[in-house]
Amino acid sequence: MTGTYWIETWGCQMNEHDSEKMAGSLEGLGYAPAASAPDADVVLLNTCAIREKAEEKVYQFLEKLRPARAANDGMIVGVCGCVAQLQGQGIRDRLPFVDLVLGPRASGKLPEYLARAKDRRGIVDTTLYQDSILAGTENVRRQPGRVKAYVTVMEGCNKTCTYCVVPATRGREESRPLEALLGEVRRLAGEGYPEVEFLGQNVNAWRCPATKAHLGDLLRAAGRVAGIRRIRFTTSHPLHLSEDILRAMAEVPEICDALHLPVQSGSARVLKAMRRGYDAEKYLAKAEEIRKWNPGVALSTDVIVGFPGETEAEFAETLALVRHVRFDQMFSFVYSPRPNTVASMLRDDVPAERKSERLAELQALQREIQLERHRALVGRTFEVLVEGRSRRREEEYAGRTTCNRMLNFPSARPLAAGDVVRVKATWASPVSLRGERDERAADGGETREAMA
Ligand code: SAM
Ligand code: SF4
Repeated sequence: MTGTYWIETWGCQMNEHDSEKMAGSLEGLGYAPAASAPDADVVLLNTCAIREKAEEKVYQFLEKLRPARAANDGMIVGVCGCVAQLQGQGIRDRLPFVDLVLGPRASGKLPEYLARAKDRRGIVDTTLYQDSILAGTENVRRQPGRVKAYVTVMEGCNKTCTYCVVPATRGREESRPLEALLGEVRRLAGEGYPEVEFLGQNVNAWRCPATKAHLGDLLRAAGRVAGIRRIRFTTSHPLHLSEDILRAMAEVPEICDALHLPVQSGSARVLKAMRRGYDAEKYLAKAEEIRKWNPGVALSTDVIVGFPGETEAEFAETLALVRHVRFDQMFSFVYSPRPNTVASMLRDDVPAERKSERLAELQALQREIQLERHRALVGRTFEVLVEGRSRRREEEYAGRTTCNRMLNFPSARPLAAGDVVRVKATWASPVSLRGERDERAADGGETREAMA
């Protein structure tokens, strides 16, 4: 055995899955998981640069690791992911004990660089390699006990949202071929995964490089793979959400009734300054079209508050849009200026305190909406894919509905992750539901959320 490894991960599902690929690559070299970072022979930080705070956490982690690195001459420390891409050599200038700095599209070179890192001369590779999308997909070390497996369908982003570092850190879009993706889905079904989630920063722009198939074709084909009960995909961009995708969602029962469609703002002026390519009216029309095709779909979104120059009236437009759409879930953030982005050069006259207040106001509104939405579900029965024990109550189980809502419930019969059961909701909070198992009803079958 070569030694032990630890991977610390920040950020989105994409990063989580990249870490699974890196773990697979390390285990392929003979490394075994360590009990903690200071105990490991190889420590990799898979980092997120989307907001300044996420970046700061990386440096805090490195500072904490410094004594262990000083005490262990053999330890290799690597910074991977988006902060590595953004800061490159700057990381080693600041903290020279970092041996390896690898951008997201260079992580396929990990085995080669690990061998070289031992000479302590320091390696920095931020090349946006072509075909990096193919790296590591054969040898993934998935997190144990999960019912859902991630599948990267595309890398990079061709959009130019003015606040965002992703196009700089992950490069141009590159899609994996349909056949390779279906092969992976079949393999995952064979390993017993009932659920897959297709990942891409702009997932609905996926296009098979060989056959020119679109995401709707991939979703339909994945729905035909025996053993796959649920298919999710994220993140969708409003401009690429075709009728074909909505039709596939309506026709294929395995495609979950959940769609993540970031809106970012309700103000036409702000959306233009963000270069999102749509205004609030266009987004609302899209939301209406989605619900026309799939009335039961749960719509989730991302919102940024306090974009440079956002006025009170513009923020009120965001609140109005949120009230109108009544999202099922929302991820909301205070705008964070990022290096070399267009927005970071704009004059920003909104005080930080006011930005935080706007975030709190928006989040309070969303909690209210979620509570109302969840309360309306009490008394209805859902098909739930069991994920394991409930986090709050060890004697209960937790699972998700097709709409991605968390349901906690007791069960007279012991259950295992991956079981599909019917649960009647009896209580609601803004973030989850509690319920009782319908023990008389046959489990399995239908995948639509509401059944009674
Ligand atoms: N590709 C997706 C999209 O188009 O929405 C997700 C990109 S990003 C990983 C996830 C979310 O982070 C974005 O939707 C946006 O709301 C937020 N975000 C991105 N850049 C930000 C910034 N500079 N400040 C605050 N939030 C940001
Ligand atoms: Fe960033 Fe916009 Fe690309 Fe999403 S679509 S990753 S927000 S640039």
